[in-house]
Amino acid sequence: MTEKINLPVVDEVDKLSSSPPIHYYPLPHSDSLDANADTSALYVHVPFCTTKCHYCDFYSIAGHLDKIPKYLAAIQKDIDLQTRHFHTPAPETIFIGGGTPTLLPPSDLSSLFGMLLNSINSKNIKEFTTEANPNTFDAPRAAVLEKFGVNRISFGAQSFNPAELHVLQRDHDPKCVAPAVKTARNAGITNINIDLIFGVPGQTLSSLRDSLAQALDLEPKHLSCYSLVYEPNTPMTARLKNGQFRAIDESLELEMFGLVQETLAAAGLNRYEISNFARPGFECRHNLHYWHGDNYLAYGPAAAAHHSGFRWKNVPSLTRYIDALLSPDPRIPITQFEHLTGLARWGELAMLAMRLDEGLVVDNFIRRTGLNAKAILAGVIQKYDGLNLLECTENGLRLTPRAVNVSDTIIAEVLAAFDSVPAS
Ligand code: SF4
Repeated sequence: MTEKINLPVVDEVDKLSSSPPIHYYPLPHSDSLDANADTSALYVHVPFCTTKCHYCDFYSIAGHLDKIPKYLAAIQKDIDLQTRHFHTPAPETIFIGGGTPTLLPPSDLSSLFGMLLNSINSKNIKEFTTEANPNTFDAPRAAVLEKFGVNRISFGAQSFNPAELHVLQRDHDPKCVAPAVKTARNAGITNINIDLIFGVPGQTLSSLRDSLAQALDLEPKHLSCYSLVYEPNTPMTARLKNGQFRAIDESLELEMFGLVQETLAAAGLNRYEISNFARPGFECRHNLHYWHGDNYLAYGPAAAAHHSGFRWKNVPSLTRYIDALLSPDPRIPITQFEHLTGLARWGELAMLAMRLDEGLVVDNFIRRTGLNAKAILAGVIQKYDGLNLLECTENGLRLTPRAVNVSDTIIAEVLAAFDSVPAS
């Protein structure tokens, strides 16, 4: 456990529970869903964490484990309501994320997996991932995961440098990552992802090189490497604004991203999405469903779902989530709801495709949308093709490796090009 940097962290459990009543949206009407649209993926959000990391803007709460029984009862209700609405899903992937799912005791993990698997048709499942923090993972939990068919574990290592973990206020010692990975393998779960963060204040190219080497020594099938983002309203951003540290230079951050790409490519991990690297055949199928704009349902507070152009998200409050689902008139507490139609929907699809190394496949795009993406994006192609930032072939459009550092700009222009097509 690292020494705590003294800054108040808002207790997310009750932040919303004392505010006025919130309007909850209904699930999208079944008549409005795409014909023959399967649910490809399921996500469950487990909001509990040991402490709140200072950079984190996911919905998660430190402690409050006494609320686990009610959380599980609410999840069961959420599953029941959605199964009734969307019929029994037969997903290809399941992802239990958080938060820290492995903070649940083994018996509660069993209950969660049991209620989920009892409500779906599991015949299509190819990938079942659980996120884990290395300091909350042990053999009894690994045995439960294996028993219920979890075949992929994503470990939040973030860095192997204790000083960097301290800056981030992560609650684990880097020495516990290797034993956690070994525990997973001993239980028979060999598809391992390791998450790393670069751009941490005080990090150097040398310390990043060392973290990458230590991660690769564990022989993961997949690595996710994101740069540190200073999200609004996080303690990390407050500390930055207070002058408690300086963010690293943008030029150093770009060098770090270059180092990540070179090192992982040399180790045989292909960059298949801007920040995600995998050995061939071990790309994360679940996240690919997100990037392909497929349908996914989600359970839990702050869980986000997409189906047929509808996007929605549950209330980011455990108290509100439990209250809404365990009330005499139970309902899913959806607080964000959006229906993307026409070009807005297909612009999103193009934007997501451009994140992937395979890029936008023109034939697939026409089949799905009826639109010629290359014609809509002619201006963007003309602007970036000559700069060696976009590669345009007969059937594809993708960012070049050189473009990953400016991907946000180009992808925003892809979206804008769809926005500016006159409505017919
Ligand atoms: S463990 Fe993950 S979800 Fe929990 S506070 Fe840290 S970053 Fe956020």
